[in-house]
Amino acid sequence: MNSEQRIFQLREQLHEYNHAYYVLDKSLVSDFEFDQLLKELQALELAHPALYDPNSPTMRVGGSVTKNFPTVTHNQRMYSLDNTYSEEELSDWVKRIEKNYGGSISEFTCELKYDGASINMSYKNGFLVRAVTRGDGTQGDDVTQNVKTIKNVPLKLVGDFPNEFDIRGEIVLPFEGFEQLNKKRIAQGEEPYRNPRNTASGSLKLQDSGETAQRPLECFFYAIAGDNSYATHEKSLVKARSWGFCVPESLRLVRNVEEMLSFVDHWGEKRENLPFEIDGVVIKVNSIAIQEQLGFTAKSPRWAISYKFKAEQVATRLNAVSYQVGRTGAITPVANLEPVLLSGTIVKRASLHNADQIEKLNLRIGDQVYVEKGGEIIPKIVGFDASQRGSLEDVIQYIEHCPDCQTQLVRIDGEAQHYCPNELGCPTQIIGRIQHFVSRKALDIDGIGGETVGLLFHQGLIQNCADLYTLNRDQLLPLERMAEKSVDNLLAGIEASKEQPFEKVLFALGIRHVGATVAKRLAVHFGSMDKLRKATPEELLEVEEIGDKIIASLHTYFQVEVNLRIIDKLTASGVSMVGEVKVLSSSALEGKIIVVSGVFQTLSRNDLKTLIEDNGGKVGSSISSKTTFVVAGDSMGPSKKQKAEKLGVPLIGEQDFLKML
Ligand code: AMP
Ligand code: ZN
Repeated sequence: MNSEQRIFQLREQLHEYNHAYYVLDKSLVSDFEFDQLLKELQALELAHPALYDPNSPTMRVGGSVTKNFPTVTHNQRMYSLDNTYSEEELSDWVKRIEKNYGGSISEFTCELKYDGASINMSYKNGFLVRAVTRGDGTQGDDVTQNVKTIKNVPLKLVGDFPNEFDIRGEIVLPFEGFEQLNKKRIAQGEEPYRNPRNTASGSLKLQDSGETAQRPLECFFYAIAGDNSYATHEKSLVKARSWGFCVPESLRLVRNVEEMLSFVDHWGEKRENLPFEIDGVVIKVNSIAIQEQLGFTAKSPRWAISYKFKAEQVATRLNAVSYQVGRTGAITPVANLEPVLLSGTIVKRASLHNADQIEKLNLRIGDQVYVEKGGEIIPKIVGFDASQRGSLEDVIQYIEHCPDCQTQLVRIDGEAQHYCPNELGCPTQIIGRIQHFVSRKALDIDGIGGETVGLLFHQGLIQNCADLYTLNRDQLLPLERMAEKSVDNLLAGIEASKEQPFEKVLFALGIRHVGATVAKRLAVHFGSMDKLRKATPEELLEVEEIGDKIIASLHTYFQVEVNLRIIDKLTASGVSMVGEVKVLSSSALEGKIIVVSGVFQTLSRNDLKTLIEDNGGKVGSSISSKTTFVVAGDSMGPSKKQKAEKLGVPLIGEQDFLKML
């Protein structure tokens, strides 16, 4: 078999494995084997650029960058749905459309109403050619590159599909992926996302499709658009399933309102167990002929309706508002509630997010407030019972000083959160930072938990993370709950942390906006704390994904005398401040600063950047006089081209670049 045949074979095989795994929930090969085959395909595609295929399974990995998403007009308008909330409204709807149709209608479908971002996908000759968001219903944004990274979206169809058609689906982010994403954000000192729905739509608009690929999005399909060659809606979806689309098995045929309601009740209870959010049920007339006869109103189809679940809501007393200080100094107001049962759990607290939110809700202490568990994980307050108001004296006064250190709070323009600026003296922040330092994702120090950090701090034994390294047995043994064994564990854990690589140390310092990924990039690029400390903003800009926000934050950090002393003390204690030397594939690009620009045929931008670094080169983020050359792809911006010409920086095509290696 020649390479060309092998490429086609691998693509077929990988499409099939993907479909089995992500749509049918069946594993045909081990993860390892799958990765091996994917790598083989990547290598072959790299060597045979002429066989480029925009729908190759290698596209799932992402890596293309979209600066702005072109607006595209939908072939068929994307309507919204009318809502109903009760049995009465539902039977009114059936009566209404039966009257309109002039006969009884005896077959409907019930589907879940997946709560995510709607998408229209166009397929041609079995290949995904375009994916567009709903937008205003008439026009949406072309987010094809990002949608291609979603694992259960078929890039290539099987079976007897039509040559050209559109299909609609909802892209959702399951709870588990949502929570993991938020954990990561919190660890990096970023605000957690509010709910899976907004996060799913936000994920479609990320500029780097490699980042979208990291999010475990899924797409559920619910309608073929503009093709009436099927007798019923249900038949069309069963067909779509056979071509490789994920049409959830929850779809049911029903005959009347009673059966609709039993579907609604069933899922109203079971929705708690679903791995993703639904906000109701969608009921559609099954016959396509009847659908066509009923047609559309200005806003929605007459032949479909949604039955929305009411978010479960309870009233309880707002007892007080307390304020939490995070390790970055951000203040979060928290409502303390009279404990109350809501969707199976006892709720005592609800987040109030920030001062604006409190003002908007216009709450007073003592109010009976309505608490709801919607898409958000933490319950929220949605309003109050106006008939039972507390007195005006009980209006909530947002605090002006830090609840912990009494420093006057500040609010940065454009940010919703208040901050305690006393970074170096605020106990909660200090303890929070040390807790972050010892945490599992950071230096992972065994033998110290969050409480121990608090204890050591309050005993005056540690003021910062570097002080951990001068702790000794005599100081620790007299402390409460510090038996000989725990002291040994703790000291051994601290000792072992000296083996942690530099990138972990850098992350552990808790510099704002320097999360695990950024720390790793910086560590690899600069190789040592010393070099990083001395790096100029221009040098920092050369690192992939490092922008002004991070540069400013690093600058501020290294300006502070105490921080420098901490670093020196850590260094003196033997904590790694130097990265490991990277093993290079070659040194063909040593000393060269290379900028990557445009869209490429064979490689993604990320692949190109890795190639450059693996061969000893440095990736520059913008063209300057220091740039050795630019690897230029298609549709490189004209202003960049001009700049390169003006500075005399050569442009090299993708193929010529690959030949250099
Ligand atoms: P709404 O946005 O409330 O008007 O509801 C309409 C939206 O519900 C559609 O644009 C779809 O994105 C979404 N949706 C979710 N599940 C379904 C489904 N099973 N059938 C039709 N639409 C659905
Ligand atoms: Zn404070």
